[in-house]
Amino acid sequence: MRRLAVLGHPVAHSRSPAMHNAAFAALGMAEEWSYEAIDVEPQGLEERLHEMPSEGFVGANVTVPHKGAALAGADELSEVAREVGAANTLSFAAGAIRADNTDAIGLIRSLPGRVRGRRALVLGAGGAARAAIWALAKEGAVVDVGGVDVWNRTAQRAEEVAVRLGGNPISRPDQGTYGLVVNCTSVGLCGEDPFEQLPLSPGKFADQVVVDLVYGERPSELLRAAEEHGAYVVDGIEVLVQQGAESFRIWTGIDPPLDVMRTAARP
Ligand code: NAP
Repeated sequence: MRRLAVLGHPVAHSRSPAMHNAAFAALGMAEEWSYEAIDVEPQGLEERLHEMPSEGFVGANVTVPHKGAALAGADELSEVAREVGAANTLSFAAGAIRADNTDAIGLIRSLPGRVRGRRALVLGAGGAARAAIWALAKEGAVVDVGGVDVWNRTAQRAEEVAVRLGGNPISRPDQGTYGLVVNCTSVGLCGEDPFEQLPLSPGKFADQVVVDLVYGERPSELLRAAEEHGAYVVDGIEVLVQQGAESFRIWTGIDPPLDVMRTAARP
């Protein structure tokens, strides 16, 4: 059995085990591959990672709060993991840990072609935002994004992150002028009102693409308002599926069935 897991704290809510195990079942790989969730406290991460290969694990996803520590503990880094400064996908082989970041490509693959030639607005400056800014600034040519503005509650972090990753820090975004708006903050996760915490108004959405990385059992308040006012919306589950699919390819070398993963990932 080749074992995989997502390591987080907390992690019980993760949709990744259901999503990956459904893909293994659909491809007839479930006898040989399995995926589970493991709750690991920050101080125990390094030791746990080093135990895993001897228990049959060939790789892992890492999520909040381990993405920075996973990068620091790896022996080998992909270019994107190094530049973003965070890893969400680890592979164990020949006694070494290789770290990748699939959050960046996952966001790009979740976008429709409707952002062409227009600017993007990224809200946030944490790990998810860094992957988004890097992806849109570097890989944005694929979807032809014309630049990336970065807003964050703590303005100084927006400046540091934007300068490092190729975005422009801003304090007052003009919401309707962007082709793409990506919420990479955790606002909405615990029921916060996005229109109180973020520089957005429900009535100012336009014919634009709006992505909310936060996901839960219901569509987020942000996406509900954006759709109602004419935006094309992409939810956090779609981004989760796309980043998970890229991790799956890294571990197995096989293209997973996206529709099977989407159905399994929805709560
Ligand atoms: P993080 O590193 O902890 O960053 C949190 C960000 O949210 C910071 O920019 C923080 O601003 C901002 N924030 C927190 N509370 C806020 C508030 N009340 N008002 C305004 N801004 C606030 O977290 P992360 O790893 O980037 O993850 C962010 C969210 O994305 C999480 O909900 C995570 O679950 C989700 N996510 C989803 C996917 C997916 O595949 N769908 C992938 C990755 C992450 P300050 O700098 O001012 O504190």
